[in-house]
Amino acid sequence: MEYNYLKMEVKKSIALIAHDNMKKELIDWVYEHREILGKHYLRGTGTTAKLVAEKTGLPVKLYKSGPLGGDQQIGARIAEEKINLMIFFWDPLEAQPHDPDVKALLRIAVLYNIPVANNRATADFILSSPLMSMEYNRKLINYSKLMITRTAKFLNEN
Ligand code: PGA
Repeated sequence: MEYNYLKMEVKKSIALIAHDNMKKELIDWVYEHREILGKHYLRGTGTTAKLVAEKTGLPVKLYKSGPLGGDQQIGARIAEEKINLMIFFWDPLEAQPHDPDVKALLRIAVLYNIPVANNRATADFILSSPLMSMEYNRKLINYSKLMITRTAKFLNEN
């Protein structure tokens, strides 16, 4: 298996997303950690980003609202290596109209090996890691190579 390494800079690009019932929790968490989070680039789905910026005074780049494609936009930025950490407080007790987008986003985050927090305890652990103020090389399987090898093997056998 071949691997690539992607460098995460000291200043990280952090996506913030919260479903409606979880927005207060995320805003409280960002407010509590505004000093550290202010040292990074913050991005978020429309409503979450707007509320976090209003309530904490931190600059947050806005994408579309989650149900209108914002989750997919963030997934695309992760694939483009422009977002490298995600705090996503999804609602464990309520189905969402855009559940397929949420699943796709979580899959992309795992595929690109970015740190993801889906609840406050994990977010606290991530933020208290010394790696938050260091460069970090994310190890990624070279999937392009893997796909080419698989296709070649398939063609060879058929
Ligand atoms: P929102 O989207 O920040 O626009 O509410 C979040 C989501 O539901 O994915």
